[in-house]
Amino acid sequence: MIDIKINEAPVSRISEVDFSNLAFGKEFSDHMFIADYDGIEWKNFRIQPYGPIPLSPALSCMHYGQAIFEGMKAYRGIDNSIQIFRPYDNLKRMNESAERMCMQPIPEEVYVEGLKAVCRMDEKWIPANEGSALYLRPFLIATDDFLGIHPSRNYMFMIYGCAVGAYYNETLKIKIETEFARAVKGGVGEAKTAGNYASALYATSIAQTEGFHQVLWTDAFEHKYLEELGSSNFFILSGNTLITPAANGTVLKGITRDSVIQLARKLGYKVEERLISIDEVIALNNEGKLDEAFATGTAATVSPICELSYQGVSIHLKHKENSVAGMLKNKLENIKRCKEEDFFGWNEKVMMTQTA
Ligand SMILES: *Cc1c(COP(=O)(O)O)cnc(C)c1O
Repeated sequence: MIDIKINEAPVSRISEVDFSNLAFGKEFSDHMFIADYDGIEWKNFRIQPYGPIPLSPALSCMHYGQAIFEGMKAYRGIDNSIQIFRPYDNLKRMNESAERMCMQPIPEEVYVEGLKAVCRMDEKWIPANEGSALYLRPFLIATDDFLGIHPSRNYMFMIYGCAVGAYYNETLKIKIETEFARAVKGGVGEAKTAGNYASALYATSIAQTEGFHQVLWTDAFEHKYLEELGSSNFFILSGNTLITPAANGTVLKGITRDSVIQLARKLGYKVEERLISIDEVIALNNEGKLDEAFATGTAATVSPICELSYQGVSIHLKHKENSVAGMLKNKLENIKRCKEEDFFGWNEKVMMTQTA
C-alpha cells in the first residue's frame, strides 16, 4: 500500500454539471492524484483539488516531448458497484510507452491505487446513465528543468477524472489519408506519446474542413495498407469474419481493440489481424462483401463507420438495425455495467456504493 495524503476540495463543482447531457472532455471531477519521481524513488503521493499546478518554463516535457498518457473508464454497475475497465492492461501499455520514450515506469501499486483513490474521492462523478462514465486520464511528464536534450531524471505522474458521455454522436465519415503519415516502422506509433497527436492535427483538420470526422491512416511508404484512426482502431466485417490491421509497430494496441477481438472470438466470429490493403476493401465492397466498418477506442467505444473516402471516391456503408458493431458495443457496455458476466475478468472492483 502507498500512503496517499488527501487534501479535499473545499467545495464540489458537481452541482454545475448536467449529467443527462454530458459533452466529452469538459467536466473535470473535483480531485486529482499526483506522484513525484526524484531520480531515485516515487514519493509525495497525494490527492488534491483539480486545478493548475506550478511548472518551470524549462520543463523538459514541454520542449522535447517526453510525455505519455493513458485513458480508461470507471463505470457504475447496475448494482451500484464502481469498477475500472482493464486497468492492469492499461498500466502495461503505459510502461511500454515509458520504455520507448526513455521515461521512468510507474509501479503497479502507484498506478492502481492512484486510480482507485480518484474514483473513491469523486465517486459521485461516476454517472449511472447508459453511455456515460468517468474517463480517467493518467499521464507522465518529464520534469527536469534543464536546457539540454537527455532523458529526464525527474518525473511527475498524475491522474485526473472527467465525466463523459458519447465521444461520437453520429456514424463516422472517414477519409483514407494518402498524403500525410502518422507512424513509421521503428518510430513511436505504438507509444501513447503526446507528440503523435500534435503531428496528426494537420491532416485531421484538413479532413474535417472537407466534412469528415477523422482520417484513417495508411502506411507511410506506399499509402496502400490501412492502419488506424486518430485515436481509435479500425475493423471491417465481411460475412462472419472481422479483420483488423495487425498491430506490429505502427498501430497503437488498443485495449478496446483487444476486448472486441476476444469477445468476437468467444461469440464464434473469425478474427484476422493482418495487413489490409485499400484495394482489398474496395474489392470486397464491389463484390457486396463489405458488411460493416467500425472504430474502437475507450472514448469512441465501438463506433460504426458509414463512409470511407479514398482519393475523392466514397464507399457508403448502409446502417443496419442488427449490426455486429452494435451488438459488440452493447455486450461490452453490459459487461462494464455488470449486466452480463465478466467472462474475461476485465472489471477491477473499486467499491460498493449506496447511491445511484
Ligand atoms: C488510445 C488510442 C487508441 C485506442 O486505444 P484504447 O485502449 O482502446 O482506448 C487507438 N489509437 C490511438 C492512436 C490511440 O491513442
